Amino acid sequence: MDLDCRRCDRRSKCQQVVPGVGPASASIMFVGEVADPEDDLLGRPHSGRAGQLLQVRLLPAAGIDPASCYFTLAVKCAGAAVREQEVQACRGWLWQELQEVKPRVVVTLGAIPTRLLLRLKKSFKMGDVVGRFHAVDYMSALIAPWYSPGWVLQRGKKDVGEAVRFLISIKEKVSV
Ligand code: SF4
Repeated sequence: MDLDCRRCDRRSKCQQVVPGVGPASASIMFVGEVADPEDDLLGRPHSGRAGQLLQVRLLPAAGIDPASCYFTLAVKCAGAAVREQEVQACRGWLWQELQEVKPRVVVTLGAIPTRLLLRLKKSFKMGDVVGRFHAVDYMSALIAPWYSPGWVLQRGKKDVGEAVRFLISIKEKVSV
């Protein structure tokens, strides 16, 4: 992707564009919502406390090696609350990553990537789509929505357990 992207105003208010990271052959791609301040500082997605919950606790607990996964964001510049035109401006970079990596499962973490990849209305409810595998007509990867790691972190032990169980089912899906 173009690290000098100026497709929307967010770039003028952050330190850097945060591109996806991970092997180009990854079977599982995690797509978070938007770069947070730690991502902006380090230039890597999912660098903050919530991202660490995902990579250091949830994935190993499910038997998934984080180094085998691709991590990216729907909106790659940090800043204020995301506006719809910014989601639309940035989505081309995500499509490019999807075409390059060709994952088997795309885990959408939070409302922004879930709505984008399932092409849902803004009024959709996460509770109606999370925890299931969704086939889409524009690529062979299955979409597996879950809540953002930040939300899981706030909710505590029960939700951590549910997240790990869903990740185990994702691992089984890519193993067959
Ligand atoms: S948020 Fe996305 S579209 Fe906007 S400037 Fe950053 S990389 Fe480009």
